[in-house]
Amino acid sequence: MTSERENPFRIAQQQFDSAAELLDLPQSVRATLRVPQRELTVSFPVAMDDGSTQVLTGYRVQHNLDRGPAKGGVRFHPQVDIDEVRALAMWMTWKCALVNIPYGGAKGGVIIDPALLSPRELERLTRRFATEISVLIGPDRDIPAPDVNTNEQIMAWIMDTISMHEGHTVLPVITGKPVGVGGSLGRSEATGRGVSLMVREWAKRHARDLRTLDIVVQGFGNVGGVAAKLLTEMGCRVIAVSDASGGYLCQKGLRIDAMQHYVRNHPRRMLEGCPIDGVEQIGHAELLELPCDILIPAALENQLTSKNAARIHASVIIEGANGPTTPEADAIFQERGITVIPDILANAGGVTVSYFEWVQGLQSFFWEEVDVNAKLERIMVNAFQQVYATAEEHQVSLRMAAYLLAVRRVADAAISRSIYP
Ligand code: NAD
Repeated sequence: MTSERENPFRIAQQQFDSAAELLDLPQSVRATLRVPQRELTVSFPVAMDDGSTQVLTGYRVQHNLDRGPAKGGVRFHPQVDIDEVRALAMWMTWKCALVNIPYGGAKGGVIIDPALLSPRELERLTRRFATEISVLIGPDRDIPAPDVNTNEQIMAWIMDTISMHEGHTVLPVITGKPVGVGGSLGRSEATGRGVSLMVREWAKRHARDLRTLDIVVQGFGNVGGVAAKLLTEMGCRVIAVSDASGGYLCQKGLRIDAMQHYVRNHPRRMLEGCPIDGVEQIGHAELLELPCDILIPAALENQLTSKNAARIHASVIIEGANGPTTPEADAIFQERGITVIPDILANAGGVTVSYFEWVQGLQSFFWEEVDVNAKLERIMVNAFQQVYATAEEHQVSLRMAAYLLAVRRVADAAISRSIYP
């Protein structure tokens, strides 16, 4: 159970309230935007391989639809709860608005540890969950995508399930699909690529040579693993990474390609037991507190809190994960002069290329990877510059600046559309 202080939805509301106050938003807009528009809870049976039946609980939450259809990932995790999904849905609304793509925010989740399931059980779970939430999702209504513990294969099953119901192939119902069934080139790396662009832009702004930067990454999945790989290719030294099995440190710089190769062949896709020379195993807490230039939390929310914020030794924190920093930790970082590049900016690369995938699916016209990456870079760099300019203009943190830009856009849309009926 999340404590009240660390409840992600309370944190999301608190962040929104502060921005709404500074923007002096009308009371009606504040009241509307601080809660989700639609929430669906589903309980559904899954036939297990041993002949038993498990009844699982899942959610799909649409926070806001003022700027377009809802967009947001689906997470399979034992700690999923409704408040986590609400927070993630609200953050998606701000993220889409910040990079100015025509979506509202949504999120979904199922309370399950998928590592405990066989591939067939995982497929049955996915197809039944897709069926349960099909009353909400659709290419012009709500378009899911991958998140923690979900991947291209799971997206393909969801697309296929909806297509079977409709009687024809519906590519744009979901993004993050394999390239062979309507996925976009560049999508699987997009979030990590966006994070690496944040590092590059920060270094440029502070006249730092990328080759002098020591980087620590928490989480070695779609976001953390790809970011670590691209940063090494850019010349940075990634000195430590972690996944659920623990932390791995090498002061001279880790061989990320070899570690990724190991994970790809591990039965549970983990670094556990990784036999690489010169790599020292460290604890989860120790990893976050390592002296480094850049810390990239890319696992789960609530990792940087009032309990460890005073012991963080990075110059800048780039939030690959959603909600890794609590407001208390944020305040400590601000006081200590540690820059935080916020989640709704730093990890927006994923939803940006998801948007490109959706557009390509709707048009049945697929782009080359260089075009995808160039368009992604333009959007990310533009958003980075807008956030920095807003922070300077209003003398606020980068997080508050990102919120001011995003919430303003959503509020303007809500005001233009007015209240129906
Ligand atoms: P993933 O399932 O691919 O990877 C998660 C990683 O975190 C795994 O390596 C896992 O072992 C590790 N992990 C779990 N618990 C940990 C712990 N206590 N300490 C260290 N590592 C731990 O998930 P992902 O898609 O990479 O998502 C990671 C974060 O990024 C989430 O907050 C997600 O919402 C956010 N995000 C993902 C995307 C995307 O495109 N996938 C886009 C934007 C934001």
